[in-house]
Amino acid sequence: MTSVNTAVQLITREEAEKGRSAAGATCSSALAKGPWEYDIAESLAGVPAYGPGASSADVAPAATPRQGQLPEQYKLASDAELDTRIRAAKQKLGDKAVILGHFYQRDEVIQYADFVGDSFQLANAALTKPDAEAIIFCGVHFMAETADILSTPEQAVILPNLAAGCSMADMADTDSVEDCWEQLEELFGTDVDADGRVPVIPVTYMNSSAALKAFCGRNGGIVCTSSNARTVLEWAFERGQRVLFFPDQHLGRNTAKTLGVPLEQMPMWNPRKELGGNDEQALLDSRVILWHGFCSVHKRFNVGQIEKARADFPGINVIVHPECPMEVVDAADSAGSTDFIKKAIAAATTPTDFAIGTEINMVNRLAAENPQHNIFCLDPVICPCSTMYRIHPGYLAWVLEELVEGRVVNRITVDDSVQDHAKIALERMLAAKPK
Ligand code: SF4
Repeated sequence: MTSVNTAVQLITREEAEKGRSAAGATCSSALAKGPWEYDIAESLAGVPAYGPGASSADVAPAATPRQGQLPEQYKLASDAELDTRIRAAKQKLGDKAVILGHFYQRDEVIQYADFVGDSFQLANAALTKPDAEAIIFCGVHFMAETADILSTPEQAVILPNLAAGCSMADMADTDSVEDCWEQLEELFGTDVDADGRVPVIPVTYMNSSAALKAFCGRNGGIVCTSSNARTVLEWAFERGQRVLFFPDQHLGRNTAKTLGVPLEQMPMWNPRKELGGNDEQALLDSRVILWHGFCSVHKRFNVGQIEKARADFPGINVIVHPECPMEVVDAADSAGSTDFIKKAIAAATTPTDFAIGTEINMVNRLAAENPQHNIFCLDPVICPCSTMYRIHPGYLAWVLEELVEGRVVNRITVDDSVQDHAKIALERMLAAKPK
């Protein structure tokens, strides 16, 4: 199957030859360019931006890390030359380097990964390579931070392009969450109820900065993934009267709904407004306070796409990620993490039609790996994650060849004080058991 990157290049070229826009087939023909074009644009403009793809309209915070210029030789190298150089560097480094590739990463990078998985699987996979002096994380910034927290101090975690952040993670910054917390403490007080439960427990999704994981560690809170969000919410409700859930409102809402929490007890917290835009009573009556954050990849899915898939393929199995809006999750046959989606497809013993609501690189790879099934992305427009796109084989070749020369570039480090508290929140997550 043609990779997402190649498909965008073909569409863009063909439509340009016909003098037409590629808008109906891909959300941005700029995806056909090398990500270094955006590194240059950012340095010229002096402000960061997510680049083409699903998050292109999201505003990147001023503090978002930017990538310096990729040396010219890597921009000019052909795909074949980069392939030769990456393989040669990898061979020279041997067990000293391990390459991790997220499910949403482009195929052109995934082909070099020693492990492919979701963010937490990858951070744990790195632990199985204690001899690796360098962990090259082909994912986004918060994932590299988690890998740094879980790896040994001697191991260097490298993000090949520093501009590979995550628009969702950026929607909850530490200052805004601290400010929210102060307002909630003032409103709720700090007294426990008759069952010994504190007024509110902070829960952060894995897709957040290390600083916010540390915030949760310091304040009796916990981290969750899309696989264990339900278990984590149950853990939190045993210890707290309510939950502050950030940054993804959809994962919070979809999960709390499965636990029977009514929508009217899930107010949204808008960090730009006093009391998050709520009146005091709504917060006092709340069970889950949802941060106003979302994933721009999963926000693209809608009920109309599901209706079309069902009309085109009667009996189709529609599976979506819980970062999708609630009405999409409600209309699907099932919802779950990337691991859940993979397992659901693996469990189908007869040829099946599947419409999947998650990032296109992963869906296309599942389709290629399972030719016995008809698997396609619910969104007909090719629109990958903007920040995963910022990693390209050129950056991978660069960081690997620097390692061969004994130089570590683009290292991601989390301060010890942040690490200690973030680990507490992560350890609570690992200890939480399903009911
Ligand atoms: S898919 Fe969404 S949540 Fe995942 S890295 Fe991209 S923007 Fe962030």
